[in-house]
Amino acid sequence: MMKIYSYKELTELEITNLCLRQLEDDSSILDRVTQIVEQVKMRGDAALIDYAQQFDQVALTELYLSEAEIERIAATIPAAEKAAIDTAYANIWAFHAAQANTEDKLETMPGVTCWRESRPISRVGLYIPGGSAVLPSTFLMLGIPAVLAGCKEIVVCSPPQKDGKTNCYLAYCAVKLGIKRIYMIGGAQAVAAMAYGTASVPKVYKIFGPGNRYVTQAKQLIQSSSMTAIDMPAGPSEVLVIADETANPAFIASDLLAQAEHGADSQAILVATSSEIVAETLKQIEVQLAVLPRKEVTEKAIANSYVVQVDNLEQAMQFSNEYAPEHLILASSRFEQLIPLIEHAGSVFLGNLTPESAGDYASGTNHTLPTSGFAKAYSGVSLDSFLKKITFQHITTQGLANIGSTVEVLAAAEGLQAHKNAITIRLKS
Ligand code: NAD
Repeated sequence: MMKIYSYKELTELEITNLCLRQLEDDSSILDRVTQIVEQVKMRGDAALIDYAQQFDQVALTELYLSEAEIERIAATIPAAEKAAIDTAYANIWAFHAAQANTEDKLETMPGVTCWRESRPISRVGLYIPGGSAVLPSTFLMLGIPAVLAGCKEIVVCSPPQKDGKTNCYLAYCAVKLGIKRIYMIGGAQAVAAMAYGTASVPKVYKIFGPGNRYVTQAKQLIQSSSMTAIDMPAGPSEVLVIADETANPAFIASDLLAQAEHGADSQAILVATSSEIVAETLKQIEVQLAVLPRKEVTEKAIANSYVVQVDNLEQAMQFSNEYAPEHLILASSRFEQLIPLIEHAGSVFLGNLTPESAGDYASGTNHTLPTSGFAKAYSGVSLDSFLKKITFQHITTQGLANIGSTVEVLAAAEGLQAHKNAITIRLKS
């Protein structure tokens, strides 16, 4: 069961330690991933086929599913799942489409005009996990902003299922997104293939997507060695729930358990102002946990989680800001007054009727979010993640006269005569 801490009895150091997440530091994983990446670099497609056999127990003859094959599999999707994907797709599309904005040109001085324009990252790679379960929601969360941004080439990799293919949900998402190929490649080898390119897999400039320890380690590794960007560093998923006496313990328990069922290393934190709510939530956790199919994993994650008892919501927010959760749930009817106090969080869920699951699947916001405290510096995936911003400037005769001496003086002060000359020669002409 979850440990309970009293906020006012914790020292600053104890709070810092409570907020620390175990970052992956497993040298055996690093060794294995380094070897996989090297093999893919050297042997390309042949290595990918060997790894599919070794790790996925599948003999691949072709590394990708063709458009016709994708359409055939997509057509087998049952009606209820098709309708649910359609609704989620529409909401995620609408939310991300609204993120497109253009910036005005600005005259910083008369005759000196500066502005920024966006351009899509032309080639991106999406990793859709598929070891234990194939995740269409991740395909939507990455595919929709990539399509909206206008990325010309969207390379999709996902581990092959037992039959060497993908399931109808991913295939249906691909059809909706207009993606004509799905590479049946999983794990570190998929990341290596997209980072370096092989005869079949195009090299991309940025790789997105969650995955297991092999996938996340490979993303870190290729970042420095292949000049390929990644979406963000990844760790186990987490939620922090702030609750006051207006919260519903059964709802809180369901949110904590939803997080915990992701994996044994997930964290589900409750920060509560009321000891009655804490006691009732712990009871509810036991009741709801008993009948969960993933009880064993969920139990381990709950044992890895804790409760912080606070005196008021301000203290709760202080703790939350120190923790910087990936998901923050404000289980309180007073959520409005807490919003300005939020400094760090990946995505926030307001009030008692807004579970994290809604954002995980369908409300519209992205579920690819910074974990492990990276919310202090990183944002979740959005349309911007698939764009680059290029700055422009134009200077007229009047502008050159206005800005010239400033640049000349600064260039001279830095001892860069050629920089100064580039102005002087134009002023004289
Ligand atoms: P996965 O697709 O990440 O990994 C499967 C692949 O791992 C296999 O194809 C294989 O190539 C490789 N692999 C397996 N065993 C290996 C070994 N011994 N050595 C080398 N490679 C090996 O699928 P998964 O394993 O089911 O993991 C999915 C992960 O994604 C979970 O950890 C889940 O929590 C995470 N996830 C996170 C989010 C998020 O937004 N934070 C969303 C979805 C999934």
